[in-house]
Formats: sequence, structure tokens, C-alpha cells
Amino acid sequence: MDNCLFCKIARGEIPSNKLYEDEELLAFYDIAPQAPVHFLVIPKKHIESCAAVTGENSVVVAKAFELIAKLTSELGITSFRVVSNCGEDAGQSVPHLHFHVMAGRPFTWPAG
Ligand code: AMP
Repeated sequence: MDNCLFCKIARGEIPSNKLYEDEELLAFYDIAPQAPVHFLVIPKKHIESCAAVTGENSVVVAKAFELIAKLTSELGITSFRVVSNCGEDAGQSVPHLHFHVMAGRPFTWPAG
């Protein structure tokens, strides 16, 4: 998608503080961290949100969760929260599927 912020980051047109990259996935630190550790995992190929996950594109979602397990393990993080906001009311500000991975402080439940 030409005008999508995270597509631009995935293409390297906008810089990011990268944690991991392969052909399909990118992990980078959130520009406005909400926890001592806060990074995002995105598929490079544009998927708008969790609501757009289908049988055609869901393999990359499974790979994103494998990557989250690998990166948190490498960072020595044993307790963390994974969040994906879907739609405006849920707080999604960037319409490109992403998983927030946050750690380093206690989190309350239910989420606000
Ligand atoms: P959401 O509001 O759930 O769609 O999450 C979007 C996230 O992207 C927010 O936590 C923002 O702080 C983060 N964000 C926006 N622009 C950038 C950027 N250029 N680099 C890293 N993170 C960003």
C-alpha cells in the first residue's frame, strides 16, 4: 500500500529501530513506548487488521507469534502482553496489522 505508514517502514522508506527482519516479518521498537519494553511485530505484506485475517494470509500471523516467542526468549522476557488493536474504537491508529509486545511493568486487566 503506497500510503501506509507501516508499509513504508517495511520497505525501509521510513527509518525504524529494528529488532528483527526477514522476508515476511519486521519487528521494531514502538516510537512512543507504553512499557519499558515495547516493540511491534508486523507482516511486511499489507493486512489491514485482525479483521482481515483469512485462510489465505494467516500463515504469516502464526509466524508472527513464533517470532514473538523467539524474541521475548532472546530478550530474557518471561512475562509480557501481546495486543492487537482492531478498528478505531479499539484504539487502532495505524491500519496495518501489528502486534504490540510489551513487558517490564505490571499490566492491569481488563485493558482500558
Ligand atoms: P495502534 O495505535 O494500536 O494502531 O498502534 C500503532 C503504534 O505505532 C503506536 O503505539 C505508535 O506509537 C506506533 N508508531 C507510530 N509511528 C511509528 C513509527 N514511525 N515508528 C515506530 N512506531 C510507531
